[in-house]
Amino acid sequence: MDLEQEQLMEMSMMTQKSLEEQRLVMHYQPIVARPSNSGSLEQGVLGFEALIRLQHPQRGLLTPTFFSEALDHPRLARRIGCFVLDAVLTQGEQWHQAGLPLRLSMNVSARHLLDPEFLNDLRYALAAHPGMPPEYCEIEVTESAPMQDFRKAQVTLQDCNSMGLRIALDDFGTGNASLSYLQKLPAQTIKIDQSFVRDILNDPRDFAIVAGVAKTARMLGLEVIAEGVETIGHLQLLETLDCPAMQGYLFSRPMPSEIVASWVKSFNMHNYIDKLASHLNN
Ligand code: C2E
Ligand code: MG
Ligand code: MG
Ligand code: MG
Repeated sequence: MDLEQEQLMEMSMMTQKSLEEQRLVMHYQPIVARPSNSGSLEQGVLGFEALIRLQHPQRGLLTPTFFSEALDHPRLARRIGCFVLDAVLTQGEQWHQAGLPLRLSMNVSARHLLDPEFLNDLRYALAAHPGMPPEYCEIEVTESAPMQDFRKAQVTLQDCNSMGLRIALDDFGTGNASLSYLQKLPAQTIKIDQSFVRDILNDPRDFAIVAGVAKTARMLGLEVIAEGVETIGHLQLLETLDCPAMQGYLFSRPMPSEIVASWVKSFNMHNYIDKLASHLNN
């Protein structure tokens, strides 16, 4: 066995063990409405994306960088996917019952999405959490699933829509068929990949791409979220592009579920408008 295969096996064993020992946890990162769209405090927060973490006994909290292949592993993808569905819907239901009706997005691996049991898994999870309306759930798919089996991905996503869930095209623009997916897949949201947003201030090409995608989304009646918003400069430029929603470290890193409610309460988009104003004056 070569080194790469060995590492892959080690990684999937670590992930499987974490799943069994209940050391996989979800963190949540806010998605916010652009300043001029957010009249009141709460209105500024559109929802949260659920992001998986692995609590390693020695290495601490690990992001998917350290176990991403395991998320799409033949033996693990469905088990992890079901864990995520249950964890996120449990959390969403709790927040709803506590008077915090948050929209939650979750990432679904290509392998789970294309699994014949996926829709059953989804139905089962929704039925187990009647307090979390499907309309508040969004499925994020990257371009890898439709790349493997377009027709099946299309039909499955249509079924998700019929069940009330929203669909987001994640990492939009990084695959090789983005526009045709936009044309043929039933999506309500486009998430512009952070690789286009990162250099938006310095690279006129990136700026043009983000501007074009935002405009296309608007014309199609889709919601558009810019990922990787890290600086006031990013925010300012996205603001001029009329990009309605954003996600990134500027607002918050992904956080444990326990602090979400207090974060929402204390979040104030107007602070960013003030920062923007002083940024413009300098
Ligand atoms: P993604 O779905 O595109 O998620 C966004 C990633 O960007 C997250 O990384 C998030 O922490 C990071 N991010 C957010 N804002 C910023 C920013 O301002 N700057 C930078 N540099 N990064 C930012 P994370 O949590 O490490 O997740 C990486 C990827 O792993 C995700 O990319 C997604 O594809 C996958 N993933 C995460 N959770 C799950 C899950 O529950 N199931 C599956 N199947 N995949 C997941
Ligand atoms: Mg995502
Ligand atoms: Mg993404
Ligand atoms: Mg990504």
